Amino acid sequence: MDILRGISVAPGIAIGEAVVLDAEDFRIPSRTVPSHAAAEELARFTRAIEDSVAELERQTQWMLGHLGREAANVFSWHIGVLKDAKLHRNIERLMEEQAYSAAYATSTVMREYQRRFLQMSDPLLVERIRDVRDIERRLLRHILGESREDLAHLTKPVILIAHDLTPTQTAQLADTLVAGVALDVGGATSHTAILLHSWGRPSVIGLNDVATRISGGDLVVIDAVNQLVLANPDPSTLEDYRRQEAEFNRLSAELDTLRDLPAITKDAEAVHLLSNIEFPHEARTSLAKGAEGVGLYRTEFLFLQPNGFPSEEDQYLAYMEAIRGMKGRPVTIRTFDLGADKYTQEKRYEQERNPMLGLRSIRYSLANVPMFKMQLRAILRAAVEGPIRLMFPLLMSLMEFRQAKMTLHDAMEDLDETGVAYRRNLQVGIMLETPAAAIQVKEFCREVDFISIGTNDLLQYLVAVDRGNEEVSKYYEPSHPALLRVLTEVIKACTKAGVDCSLCGEMAGSPLYTLFLLGIGLRNFSMAPANIPEIKKLIRLATMTQARRVARKALTFETDRQVNSYLREETRKLLPQDPI
Ligand code: PEP
Ligand code: MG
Repeated sequence: MDILRGISVAPGIAIGEAVVLDAEDFRIPSRTVPSHAAAEELARFTRAIEDSVAELERQTQWMLGHLGREAANVFSWHIGVLKDAKLHRNIERLMEEQAYSAAYATSTVMREYQRRFLQMSDPLLVERIRDVRDIERRLLRHILGESREDLAHLTKPVILIAHDLTPTQTAQLADTLVAGVALDVGGATSHTAILLHSWGRPSVIGLNDVATRISGGDLVVIDAVNQLVLANPDPSTLEDYRRQEAEFNRLSAELDTLRDLPAITKDAEAVHLLSNIEFPHEARTSLAKGAEGVGLYRTEFLFLQPNGFPSEEDQYLAYMEAIRGMKGRPVTIRTFDLGADKYTQEKRYEQERNPMLGLRSIRYSLANVPMFKMQLRAILRAAVEGPIRLMFPLLMSLMEFRQAKMTLHDAMEDLDETGVAYRRNLQVGIMLETPAAAIQVKEFCREVDFISIGTNDLLQYLVAVDRGNEEVSKYYEPSHPALLRVLTEVIKACTKAGVDCSLCGEMAGSPLYTLFLLGIGLRNFSMAPANIPEIKKLIRLATMTQARRVARKALTFETDRQVNSYLREETRKLLPQDPI
């Protein structure tokens, strides 16, 4: 039995056989081959090299005739790598000494090459990573033939194991039989994690080497309650997990009975619970879980689909679907928050060195005005049909807000010119996600209609920890006293200015912070639909007197550990049965 520890991003227990994917959807069927099949496996590898080289030579010839020598040279480096005797030796050695399958050995060695290029200081050499990935893909295609995995056609529930999944791959899990996911990389609020959370089935990420330690066909338990992944558990452990899985499902079903009850404290303070969605169809889940509206619609996922950017009409239809799905409840549409981990770095010609500090969110929008205006037109048009609020992400200055509003006015002028119906007077707000905006909250309050606090980013910029990097995930701690103090000040300023304030970072959906957030005056919580029932249950058990006391005390601690254990203790008093 192999036990790995990571970060849970969607709770529960899932049990099933492993399917291991590489980054490009290739399924590596097994890690090792029995000794009697070793010779055939070696021959398969040699054939794959020969076929890949022959294919590239054909392509080079074609390019020479049609596109000229310069274009044809692109692949000569690939051919050189594929013919490199050292590469062959490295792969063959793993096959001989470790009994690795051809696909697994190829993937291991090519990953090592990629890591080496990644560490090089010359940006041109770093660019070579893409070539190495391309070579890996080509080789795997020849080794594995048509066994490229199509998750849409699984015939039984499986546990998906991968090094990483792009947001696009994650979004495609929705209609599959995948019962749980385990990944090598990722931090608790990386965008892949957020999508896994919305998807709602048990997932643990940031496991470092799960994709190399688990092979296709292994029996795997995802214990997302305790942040563990177990491979090939012994029979008594397995039996115990089957019991826990049934109990977890029973508790979830019980929580769903709260759907139509109000989120109101025992001493009658009303709280609003809203949902975060990534796709318009999630409006349905939001209503099923009792959301009063959508507090954050992350529209950028429309732009991350494999078939390219959406047209104005595609966008208009998506926003209409969300509005209709919410049946008259408000929908807060955030303009696309592309960049950083949501602009697949492979699509960029030049990789950004510090993408989290780079051309992302509102900066990306203001640098791509025609695309930004097109989205604003689609939103303005859809707003005729229902209560839409418009929200700009990651502002760090008032100038950015004013520029974004100017672009909004330009979009209105475009619509005036064409005579298309739209709503002029929609509410316009911001996501407060940078320390700069938190410090200038009073100034922002004078110009915006509402503020939504994005603690996922606010925390990463406050403590200078990349939210998607598993190497530093232990430093990414929402219990940090600095974050608690900033939140207190921001909510106080909004309340004083009479500006509607909500919180839509992952903290809003974590029961650990509910009492604190209530106590400092937050009344609008926006979270993944799946979290709503539990947060509602907790609110209905709490009193404001208790919440204020907890908040006051939490603010006196000097370290995140003290805050965390205090909040855990106080929350357990109300929810003794639930995993906190
Ligand atoms: C946030 O940063 O808290 C947030 C809700 O936005 P996202 O997670 O999409 O960056
Ligand atoms: Mg954010």
